[in-house]
Amino acid sequence: MTVKKTKLIFITGGVLSSLGKGLAAASIGALLEARRLKVINQKLDPYINIDPGTMSPFQHGEVFVTDDGAETDLDLGHYERFVSTRMKRENNLTTGQVYFSVITKERRGDYLGKTIQVIPHITDAIKDFIHKTANGADVCIVEIGGTVGDIESLPFLEAIRQIRMEIGRTNSIFIHLTWVPFIKTAGEVKTKPTQHSVKALREIGIQPDILLCRSEVSLTEEIKTKIALFCNVDYDCVFTAKDVQSIYEVPLGFHKEEIDQRIVEKLGMWTGDVDLKPWHDVCNRLQNPVGEVTIAIAGKYVNLTDSYKSLNEALIHGGIANNYRVKLAFVDTELITKDNIEEKYAGVDGIIVPGGFGERGIEGMITTAAYAREKKIPYFGICLGMQMAVVDFARNVCGLEDANSSEFNQKTANPVVDLLPEQKTVSEKGASMRLGSYPCVIEKNSLAYAAYNDTQIAERHRHRYEFNNDFRELLSSKGLRITGVSPDGRLVEIIENPAHPWFLGCQFHPEFKSRPTAPHRLFSKFIAAAIKNKAP
Ligand code: GLN
Repeated sequence: MTVKKTKLIFITGGVLSSLGKGLAAASIGALLEARRLKVINQKLDPYINIDPGTMSPFQHGEVFVTDDGAETDLDLGHYERFVSTRMKRENNLTTGQVYFSVITKERRGDYLGKTIQVIPHITDAIKDFIHKTANGADVCIVEIGGTVGDIESLPFLEAIRQIRMEIGRTNSIFIHLTWVPFIKTAGEVKTKPTQHSVKALREIGIQPDILLCRSEVSLTEEIKTKIALFCNVDYDCVFTAKDVQSIYEVPLGFHKEEIDQRIVEKLGMWTGDVDLKPWHDVCNRLQNPVGEVTIAIAGKYVNLTDSYKSLNEALIHGGIANNYRVKLAFVDTELITKDNIEEKYAGVDGIIVPGGFGERGIEGMITTAAYAREKKIPYFGICLGMQMAVVDFARNVCGLEDANSSEFNQKTANPVVDLLPEQKTVSEKGASMRLGSYPCVIEKNSLAYAAYNDTQIAERHRHRYEFNNDFRELLSSKGLRITGVSPDGRLVEIIENPAHPWFLGCQFHPEFKSRPTAPHRLFSKFIAAAIKNKAP
């Protein structure tokens, strides 16, 4: 039996963060998949947290949830939007996880007699992890978080240096993403930061094979020659990663530069023809929309839009499905009152209240749900957004004035959103969370059924509180329709308001499963409703 050897592509970043390493890794994955290769992406994160689940979205951006319930880095969202392989817990490794596993073994006595050190124990654990996750794929793309020169990422870089030694240059390549700034006053691009960044990499024993140079202009032959010479990289392996209008243009841009061609040559791989039709379709639709709709995202993390990364993208996908450009308007619900609400939502064709934790801004969300309900503006409530729509309905339609979620008011006589009885005894923060994919049964003749065209679905969750069944009868009798429940009927998953053209709340996060080449149908339908609402 021959064991298939997975080729490894390591992606590092230089000069500064936010150059789009995750996007580059995802786009390379899309191109290799378009050559019919089986691709896996993984992300190595240098921070000590076991996972980003406990970090503030203000600091770290969105927490991306996988089917198996892992709370992961938002780059895994990019991977899933560009590559068809579904991510799991194992696709995101943090320094915290590495140390935790090594220390656990040490306590168990697995290393008895030895001194535990970064090299070889930590680096060996990293190498094992990379190989285990890569197993089964033709190509595994490993993104190393952070910027070269950081202390934190050193063990990861040492581990990938060793892997290259062990498996050789036809089985692994190093791609370095760097920055070539255009200096307006000088009217030219500068290569020095790139030279320094590559120098720093070489000091720790890594010679990049390919350079992706982020730049606002295309690099001239002369500049590429200079970079190639100073960085010791072949001339035809220095590429411009030019700024683009939409992130979904990146795979086509990379392909035009022949980045994928050079990668498969370096890895000595023979692949099928490249089928990029789905990406051409996506870009055509984005570049030639028939109109524009404005969607308000009404939440509290409005100043850091990365906090709603998957949601923003899913809305754009909904636009792609309808051939419309989606303009996002971020509305801070902390600033909303009954008096200014009309002004806040002027010119808005549809409203989304997204997920969130904590009390900040929730009254504004409830007021928003009421406003959308009364004014018949398409409303899509996701997780917290569904819960707040339930609170509005209980307060303003059913007359339960103090109705609330017990997350925000533990003393309310009407906790229409509450913990399940068995959750109330759990004391550890993470333990009571419903995380990952859960099945849901959908009722026919509903907005949900019109979207899914199926009665059995599964979606990803990340929340503690649930619709309180004690209020099911009352709310239903006043016109709130429950159109999705867990298979045992116990958990409410989807609510709708049939007296409204498009009003839907779901306890799960559909945005995690939307892709530009396969927009999630709840988003396509919501955008379609917003387009209809816009019509004169
Ligand atoms: N805070 C709410 C809960 O825990 C909603 C969570 C969310 O929107 N993801 O149930």
